[in-house]
Amino acid sequence: MRVAAALLPGAIARLPVAGREVFLTFDDGPHPEATPWVLDELKQHGAKATFFCLGKNAAENPELLTRIRREGHAVGHHTWDHPNGWKTTNSAYLANVVRGQQAVGGNLFRPPYGRIGPLQARSVGKLFPIVLWDVLAGDFRPGADGLLVARLRAAEYASRKHYRVPRQPKKL
Ligand SMILES: [Zn+2]
Repeated sequence: MRVAAALLPGAIARLPVAGREVFLTFDDGPHPEATPWVLDELKQHGAKATFFCLGKNAAENPELLTRIRREGHAVGHHTWDHPNGWKTTNSAYLANVVRGQQAVGGNLFRPPYGRIGPLQARSVGKLFPIVLWDVLAGDFRPGADGLLVARLRAAEYASRKHYRVPRQPKKL
C-alpha cells in the first residue's frame, strides 16, 4: 500500500517511533462478531490499537463503540458506509466523510481502500488528518482465519510489547 501513500503526500502512513513499536489499526467496525473478538485478543496481549469505524456500523452498534473507547483504544472514522473515492463525486464523498465522523467522533480519518481522489484528499485533509498504513494484514481475504492472530503475535514479538495509541497528530 505504499502506492497509496505515494499518491497522497500529505497522508500519514508511518509515524516515527522511539523503539520497536507498531501501531495496530482495525477498520470497518464496530462489528457484533469481529470487534468483541479483536478487543478480547488485544486485552489478552496488553495491546492498544486504533479502530477506524464506519458511521453506519457505529450507529448500529453504539455499545461496541463505547467498549472500544472504555478499553483505552483510539477511535478514528472511516466514512459513513465505505464508498470508493475513485468512483464517487467529490461532494458526495465529502458528505459521506462528514456524516461518518459525526456518528463515530474522533479526528483521524482513513479513506476506505486508500482510494481518495486528490481533490477529495485536499478537502478532507483540511478537516482531518488522513491516515493510511504501511503493512496490510490481509485478514479480510477469504480463508485468512488465524492470520490476524499470527500477525498480532509477530507484532508482539517485534515490538517487545511496546504498543501505544498514536497521539492525535497535529493538523497537516
Ligand atoms: Zn475499510
